[in-house]
Parts: sequence; C-alpha cells; structure tokens
Amino acid sequence: MVLGGIVAKRWINVGGEPGKRDLRLGQVYIRPAEYRTTMPRPLLALLILPLLMSCGGNAPDKPVKNDVLAADTFKWEVDQFGDVRVIRYTVPGWEQLTLQQKKLAYYLSMAGLSGRDIMWDQNYRYNLQVRRALEKILGDYKGERAGANWDAFMLYAKQIFFSNGIHHHYGMDKFTPGFPREYLEQLISGSGAALDTKVVDILFDPSVDAKKVSLDRDKDVVLASAVNFYGDDINAKEVEAFYKAKAQPGDTTPLSYGLNSKLVRGADGKLKEEVWHIGGMYGAALEEVVKWLQKAAEVAENGQQRKAIELLIEFYRTGDLKTWDAFNIAWVQDTGGTVDFIQGFVEDYNDPLGKRGSFESIVEVIDPVATKNMEVIQKNAQWFEDHSPLLPEHKKKKVVGITYSFINAVNEAGDAAPSTPIGVNLPNADWIRKVYGSKSISLGNIIEAYDKSSGQGSLKEFCYDQAEIDRAVKYGSLGDNLHTALHEVVGHASGQLEPGVGNPDATLKSYASTLEEGRADLVALYFLMDPKMVELGVMPSLEVGKAEYDSYIRNGLMVQLRRLKLGDQVEEAHMRNRQWVSAWAYEKGLPDSVIVKTVRDGKTYFHIRDYEKLREIFGQLLREVQRIKSQGDYQAGHDLVENYGVKVDRALHEEVLKRAENIKTAPYAGFIQPNLVPVTDANGEITDIKIGYPEDFIGQMLDYGKRFSFLPDTN
Ligand SMILES: [Zn+2]
Repeated sequence: MVLGGIVAKRWINVGGEPGKRDLRLGQVYIRPAEYRTTMPRPLLALLILPLLMSCGGNAPDKPVKNDVLAADTFKWEVDQFGDVRVIRYTVPGWEQLTLQQKKLAYYLSMAGLSGRDIMWDQNYRYNLQVRRALEKILGDYKGERAGANWDAFMLYAKQIFFSNGIHHHYGMDKFTPGFPREYLEQLISGSGAALDTKVVDILFDPSVDAKKVSLDRDKDVVLASAVNFYGDDINAKEVEAFYKAKAQPGDTTPLSYGLNSKLVRGADGKLKEEVWHIGGMYGAALEEVVKWLQKAAEVAENGQQRKAIELLIEFYRTGDLKTWDAFNIAWVQDTGGTVDFIQGFVEDYNDPLGKRGSFESIVEVIDPVATKNMEVIQKNAQWFEDHSPLLPEHKKKKVVGITYSFINAVNEAGDAAPSTPIGVNLPNADWIRKVYGSKSISLGNIIEAYDKSSGQGSLKEFCYDQAEIDRAVKYGSLGDNLHTALHEVVGHASGQLEPGVGNPDATLKSYASTLEEGRADLVALYFLMDPKMVELGVMPSLEVGKAEYDSYIRNGLMVQLRRLKLGDQVEEAHMRNRQWVSAWAYEKGLPDSVIVKTVRDGKTYFHIRDYEKLREIFGQLLREVQRIKSQGDYQAGHDLVENYGVKVDRALHEEVLKRAENIKTAPYAGFIQPNLVPVTDANGEITDIKIGYPEDFIGQMLDYGKRFSFLPDTN
C-alpha cells in the first residue's frame, strides 16, 4: 500500500493549461504604480519574477540575471507538432554558481539522464525496442527523406520521443501512425533497424494496448492499462489483495509497498515483486545512475545533502523501501544547499492503482530571494487553517514543516521530461510529511519559458467580455502564482483524518488523487477572495482573486476540453478535479445565478456574476471534500467525481474544439534540456561547466539515445 499516492503532489503539468497558462501576461504587473506602493518590495519581486526578465530586467531584487542570453532575443519555442510544442528554458544565475556547485548540478544531471531508459520501459514493455528502431531509422535510413509518408513518420517519431513511448503523455491514448505499415517496413529494412513483427502488429492495431493508463471503472484498470507495472494476466483484485496482505494494521510508519517493483506471476502461480535495483530489474541503468551519484556525493554542499545522496545510492543498490524512507527524511531535512534535486521512483500517476513510482529526475538551483519572500504565506499557514471553512474536527491544530522554494531547473529527465511539472511537493509518504514535513517547489524558469512562448489568443476566444480579458491581463498571472502558493503551502498541508480512518488511497481508492488535488485547489480558491491576502500585502486588491476565479471556471467548465478527443471522458486526475470543482459550483449557484452560462453568436461563455457567493460555494465544497477525506467516505467521493468530473457535454466539447482551432498555440508543451559541458585542463580536471541551449529536439533525443541507453530492449 502506497501512502503517498493520495497526496498527489504534482499540481500542474506544464504540458497544458490552456486558458490558465495563457493568462500569464505578466509584463503588465510591473507597470501599475499600485503594485510598487501596495506590495512589499521583496514579495513583488517574487510574484512577478518569472515575468520580469522579459521586461528588460528591471527587477531590483532579482539577485541573478541571465548572463548568457538576452531574454528578448532568446528563441523560446523551437518546434510544434501534433498537439504539442517544444520550448526551451534558460538557467538564470548559472555563471554565479561556484565550480563545486556546478559540478554537483552536472553530476546529478548525468545521474538523472542515465535512468532515462527506465521511464520508457515503465511506460510500456516494447517502448525501448520501438525507440531504438526509430533512432536507427532517423540515423541511418538511406532512402528518400521527403514526401507525405516521411512527414507522417517524422510526426509519429516526434510524438513518441515527446511522450517517452507510444502512448500520449497526457491523454494516454496510443498514437496512430499516419502512414501505411508497408512504409514502416521499408524504413526498417532500409536502415537496418530491428523491430519484432509482433510489435509492428501492435503499432498498427488500435485495439491492442490502446491506453497507457485506464481509469475506466467499467473495466479492470490493471488489465486495461498498458503500463509495464504488472504481468499481462494480473488483475486489479489480485493486486489489491497482494498489498492488503502486506499492510500491517496500525503501522504508523508504513512502507511505500509496491513503489519500486513490477508485480509478476511466478512459476508457482503466486504473485511476486521484481524489484528495481542493482542486480535486479533495471539494474544496468541504476548502476550508471549510482556511478554519477557517487561523484555528486563527493561535491555535496553539506553533510546533510551528502547523507541524502548516499542513502539514495543505497536504495538503488538494495531496493529496500526502508532506505527509500530514510532517503526521503534526509532529503526533506536538507534545506541548506543552493543546488537541490528530486530523483527516484517518485510519482505514481502512471500506475492505475497509484502504487508504483515512475523514474524521474529534476536538478535545480534555489532562487534565494524569491524563496525568502514566500515565507509571508508560510508564516501565516496556521491562520489560514484556523480560518478555513472545514469542520472543526477536521482542522489541523498545528501545521508543521511547510517549506516552499522558487527554484530554477537545470536539467530534467525521466518522468519530468520533456513534459514537466511546474510545481512539486514531496515526499509522498504521508507519515513522513506529518513527522518531518515536506518541500514544495515552483520551477520559476520553466514557468517563465512557458509564459514567454504563449500568446493571449485563448483569452480573446473564451472570455465573456472585455472586462474579464482586462482583469486577466492585469491580474491573471499574480492570481495564478498565488493560487499555486496557497495550493502547495496551505492546501496540501491542511486538514486531518478522523481517528481510525485509513489513508485515502485505501479508503478513496482511485478517486484519492483527484479528490486531493481538488481539495488543495479549493483551499486556494477560498482564500484568494479573502481580504487577509490584501492585508498581508501579497495582492493589491480582490480583483486578483476575481481574475483567478474567472480563469478557474473558464478552464474547468470549458477550455480544458480542448485537450480531449471528441467522445472521450475526462480521465486525468487534475483535469477531473478542475471539472468537478467548477461543475459542482456552477450547479449550486444556479438558483442565485452565481455563474451564468451565455451563448452568443453560437459561442458559449461562463460568466461569474457573484464572486462573494461563489467563494461561499467553494467553501461549502471544501468542507465536504475534507469530510470525505477525513472520514474515508468512498461513496461520496465516487459520486462527486463521477457525477461532476468525468462526463463531457458533447456539443460543448465540439464547440470548444472548433474554437480552439482559432488559437494557434498547441495545448501541450515540453522542453529541450540545456546541455552541460565540462571544461577540463591538461590533467583532465574539470575547471568549469559550460551551459548551452540546443534548438533541435530530435537532435537531443538522438544524442541521449547514444549517451544514456543502458537497458536491454526487454526487461
Ligand atoms: Zn497538488
């Protein structure tokens, strides 16, 4: 039983927030005089930080500037294909790091990249074979590289590289080749690539392994999911039974059972775990990871950080989940360094049962000034808890251990690339969070890159009137940032279970993730319209809260549908929660016309008429969702999600897709990683690490394929 699954940490995938991300038109923030006078200067710098670099760097408190690139001339978006675009990010302040810090970031990056194959294999058992065939074709195919079939093949290849496999990274559907099977066979034979006939069969048969992760409760979610976490014939009931037997009732420090293994059927018919560790499954890649982690440990910034890295190494060696917990405890207590990292089998979204962790790596550099400013919200966490609309018995008496940092990513790999989160809260194990606290980060330079490469087309298409557009332009980005801060710092930390109630992944099962994300969103929404926020100096007026309400409702009821194919239901946990929060609020507000649905020239708009009332409704829903979590009320959780978060109004969906065509920006985005290149002296000693920003997505994918491919085709 995994405890962490429910406190689903990744609040936003940058991979797509149409409408929401489009609101980050931040240039405006630094212009209005009210900001300079109303807001404490450091906080101002924090909130507009990702946006400032575009404005000629007139941020007095920004400690480091991007000394490599003039932001205005940097090419943010480098490619667009299918429903995704590929953008780049810069690493501000890299040159200000000491050589030791640069080395640390470099070694950690190399460690993360060395585990890249794992994520491919976890996503699907034939992914590595497919990727290597693509690499071979792209490298060696001697025939004509032009024409409709070649273009369709290139699209297919890019989509697969972007998704770390043959299923869409977010939509979960298997990609459909836009060229005939014979053409692929021609490419294979013309390049010396190898691909089993049975795998080719699968690529061209839409009925086989159609979904990477299926949450369709009408089916067996384990059998219906193509991820490589369970043997082919193992069903959800068996898995639940297997882990139920492992769990010890009353255990206050339960292990994250199932986190680092594949569950298979042994020769005796019984289930057994194939553990991911050196000497076991994925051992060849983990050996390389450890090689680099050892170098990283040697240049750690302090003893605590070294201890954490060494525990991670030990975990990869032994596969012992106790060591995983020890690593997480050491990691959460390592707050002194400038360089930090996330690595391991972390998030469980790719497992339909929320147990197994996907390999991921994020290497990051702390932005000290921005992080310091976040303390304003941290310091008031208890005030927020005390003033939340929760039932008294569900409020935490003491909110502990919340830290929140603004960081700049240096390198991402595995589950975190090319599509990346823009905010993370870890560790996942509930008991560790309770006893030792957790770390929350916002990836400032990723958010900046996202902002800089987006336009405002979505606003023009989906906002009800000019006032809404103006509010979004003026306050949207600030509202969005504050939503993030409240969601992470206050939201996930808020509330408590009633005595004797099991953890939500046991009580709420597959609804745990979406209910937790919705709960954290509701905490944020509730306080975004609280005068306390103005009093704290983090926002100039409640107009900021209104802008965020507009954005949330617009997205949850309408705009996010553009990411779904016609006929599909909402499956992804975050999309579900945005819909059930919005749809429930819409319905409850109908008698008072709190949110009004208007159709004008065949276009639908959702317009908030009464923000105060909407805030009350969000408060009611928050109280109810907390009750569901605190009491483990599965039926109520099920009903809320199924009745409000899953179904799609087909006519509206059709309309949204049509309107979305007017917006040129692809709904998902992902990133090319910077290149870190060591400079050495005559003795081979590293004297510097240079950072470069490649522009060629496929070029980087092929380069990674050459340098970081350590696993066999089949694992
Ligand atoms: Zn969250």
